[in-house]
Amino acid sequence: MKVIVLGAGVIGVTTAYYLARAGVEVHVVDRRSAAAAETSSANGGVLHTSEAEPWSRPGAPLQMLRSIGRTDAPMLLRLSALPRMWRWGLSFAAHCTTRRYRIGMSANLRLSTYTLALLKDLREQLGLEYDQASRGSMKIYSNARSFDAMTEEAEAMREFGMDFKAIGMAEATALEPALAPIRDTLVGAIYYPSDEAGDCAKFTTALAAVCAGEGVTFHYDRTVIALRREQGRITAVETDGGVMTADAVVLAMGSFTPLVLRPLGIRLPIYPVKGVTVTVPSAAWPEGPRMPIIDDQLLFGINRLGDRYRCPGSVEIAGFDAAADPRRCDALARNVISVFPGFADCYDLQTAELWAGLRPMTPSGNPYLGPTPIPNLFLNAGHGHLGWTMSCGSSRVVADCVLGQEPAIDMSGLTFTGHN
Ligand SMILES: Cc1cc2nc3c(=O)[nH]c(=O)nc-3n(C[C@H](O)[C@H](O)[C@H](O)COP(=O)(O)OP(=O)(O)OC[C@H]3O[C@@H](n4cnc5c(N)ncnc54)[C@H](O)[C@@H]3O)c2cc1C
Repeated sequence: MKVIVLGAGVIGVTTAYYLARAGVEVHVVDRRSAAAAETSSANGGVLHTSEAEPWSRPGAPLQMLRSIGRTDAPMLLRLSALPRMWRWGLSFAAHCTTRRYRIGMSANLRLSTYTLALLKDLREQLGLEYDQASRGSMKIYSNARSFDAMTEEAEAMREFGMDFKAIGMAEATALEPALAPIRDTLVGAIYYPSDEAGDCAKFTTALAAVCAGEGVTFHYDRTVIALRREQGRITAVETDGGVMTADAVVLAMGSFTPLVLRPLGIRLPIYPVKGVTVTVPSAAWPEGPRMPIIDDQLLFGINRLGDRYRCPGSVEIAGFDAAADPRRCDALARNVISVFPGFADCYDLQTAELWAGLRPMTPSGNPYLGPTPIPNLFLNAGHGHLGWTMSCGSSRVVADCVLGQEPAIDMSGLTFTGHN
């Protein structure tokens, strides 16, 4: 069997790996000259089951609408984006009910937990190096109402596998000594012992090298132009480097996946939601956090990756523009400094690595995995803010679908039905 995987981000490369391990001849196509060159490049680097909640939650649409025009707000909807995203926006709003939010969260949690188990196997089998850390993660709160609300939310998810502990500042400081200097400003924390961290790009690049060693062919610097359909099946992939044929095709092009489906009459609701990261060397602030910390109110994270700190944040609906705006990056870094003054010792806007990426977001907050209305065309796209966290699980189940095998997890909420 021969399969073409379109996209060499973390999702495309893990798909290629599981297919190759099953004896499939795999070809990966990407317009960039290396793996993980777009959204999987400098993302937050946290494998967080703790963030399994969809962004389509009660209250979210109002919060987005209030952000219009506030260019330094952590969450920003640009007016110019509205004409192209209204259909997606309405569907997103329809998902913002407590019932749908909980269903979406439990599906993401299932997939994330599966990923962590598969990733452990991969580490043991392949010895991949990617600044991996298994210290858990923590969300911190300066406001008692937010702390209580999030604790209640996590409690409701415990039966679906959410592993957490709501703790006071004495325990939080014992687990993460970097909180000691600011403990009086906080009311509590939620600790997630199962979460992990690691550099997604390093992981993806290392796994791509393993794949190449197993016979996967990577066609870089090649742009996909169209899918050719004849008699109800995909018969070829047209690229700027020639026409390619295979028995099956997997789409893993992140936010760009819908663009090749539109001409086939399939409307896939994935919209790009931009975010930024600021990465700096950690040497000047050695006593900073060891485990990933998320400030749920200011919407930023800080994650130590080897000898660097990476701070992810910012939610911006601005179409396909993926340029890193220094003002938004600086606003993010200023928020980090307002909570962790020590971060100022290693941050300098002029020398920091500023990056932006497009989260491939679906209205439900769940990815689309497996079948499409075309029998030999499969999806592995729409992972939003959780692509690294859900990577191995998604790709394993998509490989199962391509091979006609039963996936190991319940797929409800994780497939494209045309109505989600
Ligand atoms: C600021 C930020 C922080 C994040 N932090 C985290 C985090 O801490 N943890 C987490 O789990 N997730 C995080 N994410 C989300 C995660 O990065 C994404 O969900 C994930 O990278 C998506 O992977 P992907 O392979 O689907 O897409 P991509 O990595 O974007 O890969 C798609 C590939 O398709 C290729 N492509 C597209 N169109 C074409 C074409 N026409 N022809 C050829 N090739 C094409 C692109 O070149 C690209 O390489 C974060 C995202 C952002 C923006």
